[in-house]
Amino acid sequence: MATYLHFAPAIALAVAIGPRTVGWRLTLAGAVFAVLPDADFALVTLGIDRYSGPYGHRGFTHSLGFALALGAFGALWAGPGRGRRLGAAAFLALCTLSHPVLDGLLDRGICNAWLWPFEEARICLDWRPVPMLGVPLFGMERLRRELIWIGIPLVVSSLTAVWLRWGWRRLRTAVPTIPARAKGRTCTSN
Ligand SMILES: [Zn+2]
Repeated sequence: MATYLHFAPAIALAVAIGPRTVGWRLTLAGAVFAVLPDADFALVTLGIDRYSGPYGHRGFTHSLGFALALGAFGALWAGPGRGRRLGAAAFLALCTLSHPVLDGLLDRGICNAWLWPFEEARICLDWRPVPMLGVPLFGMERLRRELIWIGIPLVVSSLTAVWLRWGWRRLRTAVPTIPARAKGRTCTSN
């Protein structure tokens, strides 16, 4: 598991999309949802399946199905409006999904049951670039590596998205709109 920064993709995604679309309540919910898959440690401490079966660590809570289900569940509180609920569901599902993605990028630890409930097998990502082998689960070295490999890419990505949104807004305001009457004339002349 990434120890410290599981909440961070939710913040980065909210910043990238923009505060008008994703308010602070949804952002906070996303941060909680992004950490939630590791609640499976509660089952592990109960001795259920430990690290292999679907209810062990990185089992069903680290699957695509769990992320979709949690997104749909969380959207019930998004308020009225179909579009609003769909947006909240997608945001919360992505936040939840960011958890197994981060776990899967680490070069240590067991793999995720991505395809549960259709497939219980643990599947490793082909690309696991984050070097955590031999690094203690807690401590400054762990934090340093997470900041480098997870924190910096997230900050760069979200700021790039903010810059692109800003540029798009400027472009839209810079291009003069065609007056409605002129548009009408163009249509009738054809
Ligand atoms: Zn995890």
